Amino acid sequence: MEKRIVILGGGESGCGAAVLAKKLGFDVFVSDFGAIADKYKQMLDEHEVAWEEKRHSEDIILSAGEVIKSPGIPNEAPIVVKIAEAGIPIISEIEFAGRYTRAKMVCVTGSNGKTTTTSLIYHIFREAGLDVGLAGNIGRSLALQVAEGDRDYYIVELSSFQLDNMYEFRANVAVLMNITPDHLDRYGYDMQNYIDAKLRILQNQRPEDAFVYWNDDPIIKEELPKYKHGKLYPFAEKRHEGAAAYTEAEKIVFTEPVPFNMELEELSLTGKHNLYNSMAAGISANVAGIQKEKIREALGTFTGVEHRLEKVAKVNGVEYINDSKATNVNSCWYALQSMKTKTILILGGKDKGNDYSEIAELVKEKCSGLIFLGADNSKLHAFFDSFGVPVADTCSMQECVNEAYRMAKRGETVLLSPCCASFDLFKSYEDRGRQFKECVCKL
Ligand code: ADP
Repeated sequence: MEKRIVILGGGESGCGAAVLAKKLGFDVFVSDFGAIADKYKQMLDEHEVAWEEKRHSEDIILSAGEVIKSPGIPNEAPIVVKIAEAGIPIISEIEFAGRYTRAKMVCVTGSNGKTTTTSLIYHIFREAGLDVGLAGNIGRSLALQVAEGDRDYYIVELSSFQLDNMYEFRANVAVLMNITPDHLDRYGYDMQNYIDAKLRILQNQRPEDAFVYWNDDPIIKEELPKYKHGKLYPFAEKRHEGAAAYTEAEKIVFTEPVPFNMELEELSLTGKHNLYNSMAAGISANVAGIQKEKIREALGTFTGVEHRLEKVAKVNGVEYINDSKATNVNSCWYALQSMKTKTILILGGKDKGNDYSEIAELVKEKCSGLIFLGADNSKLHAFFDSFGVPVADTCSMQECVNEAYRMAKRGETVLLSPCCASFDLFKSYEDRGRQFKECVCKL
């Protein structure tokens, strides 16, 4: 009998993996402990893949030759523990799909900036006319795209959870934006475990591959000597020996493989964090041999991604910005840092072991009000109440936006950049961001 592949999780990545595995002739079974969305059920049925929802049938699952686990399912889930105890290999969908594609892989990870940088790289490659797909945490599943016909390049966003279950996969271009604390609740509250997961992006790199990374990140600097990697392409804010990109005299200077400059004011994305994202994307495109004119043009035409410092509206002279994707403290730091006016900051949600001291100085300097939006705001009160900044406590988006409207003065900015995951009050950060936009648009 052909090898049985069991897929845990019937979402985008799981169903994509199922379709590819079926096409390759495996005996495939999809199991999801929650409900599977109708569109995915339909997809599985069309491809004659067996599936179950709201339960895990252990007899079938534990008879698998290999298990593909959705990155959303923690290693501590009882079924995952049993699979591991039974000695069945557990891999990610990207690892699986990577076995069956001949495309070059440009892979992006980091604590913050993944989606923006991945989308930006994809935009440049597409504008340059390359045959390219967008995959990973973003867009359509890599496995599904491989099943439907291969491409020359995939630009893949990789979370630490995906990297956790990757072993043989090789990134031709690996991009590491930064490493700051995030998801510590899933890494035993041990930062080193999270760091190790991120650095897995380097595993299997060969000398002819490329590693693009932020040179000023202290953690990456410390970890790098421990790993084998492709050719180094560091980027830095200031001129630096060996940097593949840095800024000087209001320009980005790209040094290799093809040297060229670009005016900072031509970049479509603003803010320091987006400068890093643009440098990383520009280097990746340069390494892939895309013409400098195309790179410059595409870095100037990218329109940004929803829920990332997205301008929503100006009401009574107050700017409202949706940065719902800021689900950790560091990304909120960058958002606050890029604010040009006094700011009412909305933060709160499901805390992932946050340390708010990183934003303390910026809050004191820039915030004229704080609105806590969460099911339990006690940790926020304990940290911020002594700052002398007006504070409001809310537990729904409507209440929160009403409060923001009341607090904000003409010329100020209201910034939703919550530092936390959204699952206490919302379905997802997208749901949180959309509710924010809806409430703002009704003001
Ligand atoms: P990710 O996919 O890693 O979560 P996103 O591109 O979705 O990253 O950006 C999430 C938030 O992180 C943005 O709203 C912004 O506030 C912040 N951010 C974006 N790029 C960076 C960066 N390079 N460094 C730090 N923070 C960033």
